[in-house]
Amino acid sequence: MKLLAKKDVPELLQAWSQRYEVLSPGTTEQADCIFGAFSRDSFTLSYRKPPMPPKAALLPPSQVIFTIENGRYADAASAGRTLLFGIRACDAMGILQAKSFFQRDGSDSYVSRRSDESVIIVNACSGPQNETCFCTTMHSGPYADRGFDLQLYDMGETFLVEEGSARGAELTGSQFFFAIGDAEAAGRIRTFRQKAQKAIPSVPEVARAMNILKAGPSCDSVWERLGKKCIMCGGCAYVCPTCTCFTVADRVHTAMNGQRIRSWDACLFSGFTREASGHNPRPTQASRLKRRHEHKLLYYNKIDTQAMVCGCVGCGRCSDYCPVHIGTLEVVKSIAEQVGQ
Ligand code: SF4
Ligand code: SF4
Repeated sequence: MKLLAKKDVPELLQAWSQRYEVLSPGTTEQADCIFGAFSRDSFTLSYRKPPMPPKAALLPPSQVIFTIENGRYADAASAGRTLLFGIRACDAMGILQAKSFFQRDGSDSYVSRRSDESVIIVNACSGPQNETCFCTTMHSGPYADRGFDLQLYDMGETFLVEEGSARGAELTGSQFFFAIGDAEAAGRIRTFRQKAQKAIPSVPEVARAMNILKAGPSCDSVWERLGKKCIMCGGCAYVCPTCTCFTVADRVHTAMNGQRIRSWDACLFSGFTREASGHNPRPTQASRLKRRHEHKLLYYNKIDTQAMVCGCVGCGRCSDYCPVHIGTLEVVKSIAEQVGQ
């Protein structure tokens, strides 16, 4: 265990920028919180949940994976030495789930190249970031128990630093870190964790909705009602740290020149499941919403979920940003209230 003074963090990140592409919390001129390339000017330690999850560091929203130039193939997917500073425990779990998904049937080299050398530094939450956080219900927070190289616990003027890997331990070897006795550190972390855990309310409707879905009574009226509201913007999938849908497109410039691009997609788009014949097995927005939420809550793959309840980490972003209020929180409450009577 180590201590790190908060006032030293910008200088530390500047030093790490020599070895890594450092992504960190910052504020825009409009005072919005973003998670992006480290800059001393915009860097802040006073941040809440950034709208976009850090999965983009592994799976960019749009990525050229190869090019053909004058008929010659060239692999264009870049390797990453990214350092993610200050992500939240739920997002670290989201990264673990996404990595597990991409490595399940043989490793996806584009994701592996970006993730294998990357460093994850979690900033444990001392309480909810806002009213939609439900990480304790999903067992993904407020602190991480896996999937991090370093974890920071806010102690006021300093961070207590927990090492989660050999790579993390190596990073704490610089002059910015000070030793602290293990027994004292463990006691302070225990107190922090207990307070944080209590501060984040649990959502009993999650377990009730999952049980209803497992038991199999029809929830069609819920999906029909919510399907009429959904405007198919895809926002819930784009802000979700565990959504991994993508599409591949070829951009042909000339007969001998072009690019293959991989981009985020969303199962709520009508074209996502449309087959080449024109047949669409999920022809209505109600059926697509049903599929998305059953995937999160019911048909998740055990290998991918790690120690979690299901394929949702409880970050609450879909509830924060869905323009018509069809986030996971609203969905589980609708199922529990309408079907579980
Ligand atoms: S709360 Fe919504 S955005 Fe967050 S992990 Fe769950 S489904 Fe994804
Ligand atoms: S964010 Fe809301 S409106 Fe947009 S696709 Fe998702 S459920 Fe539909």
